[in-house]
Amino acid sequence: MFNLVLFGPPGSGKGTQSMHIANTYHLQHVSTGDLLRSEVEGQTPLGVEAKKYMDQGLLVPDEVVIGMISSKIDESPEARGFIFDGFPRTKAQAEALDKLLEFKNTKIDLVLALDVPEAELITRLIGRGVNSGRSDDNQEVIVKRIKEYHSKTEPVANHYDAQDKLERVKGDHTIDETFKLLARHIDRYLLPV
Ligand code: ADP
Repeated sequence: MFNLVLFGPPGSGKGTQSMHIANTYHLQHVSTGDLLRSEVEGQTPLGVEAKKYMDQGLLVPDEVVIGMISSKIDESPEARGFIFDGFPRTKAQAEALDKLLEFKNTKIDLVLALDVPEAELITRLIGRGVNSGRSDDNQEVIVKRIKEYHSKTEPVANHYDAQDKLERVKGDHTIDETFKLLARHIDRYLLPV
């Protein structure tokens, strides 16, 4: 099994690149943002609870997200591996993921961190808001999401750096160029299918 975390701030292109990587290498794509939005849409109890945080640009509580991930991993026992997109986003989530995977006799192999300048992130997210209809892509909430990223998510990079698993990749090129930079790292572990 090969398990990858795609790490980076909101708007860094994690979603787009994750889909591309999942298709190329046949990995199971797990996006906590997508999972949460589908719970919100279905108006499930989890979704109703999560929406309160998402609409304010705050992270959803760790217990909620960790439980969701655990059942998602169990759904795909035959997977070649997983690509985690938007998870882990706190140190507690990273520690919980390490334990979950250890219990399944596997681990995170590689963490690719996308680096994009902050001004570019804001431009991209505002642009996306116009087309996506996502309620959290407006200027006020975007600023809060980036703040949450700096205070709670950035420390997750150190967690994986200490395990020698972190590689930084510049994410302000075209989609294809950025993909090539990411793939160069993945190719050291896994061949495209
Ligand atoms: P982006 O990375 O562009 O902000 P996401 O779709 O990854 O978009 O996340 C949207 C929102 O969903 C976040 O602002 C947060 O409220 C919630 N969310 C997603 N993943 C997590 C997570 N791992 N932990 C807590 N909250 C999360």
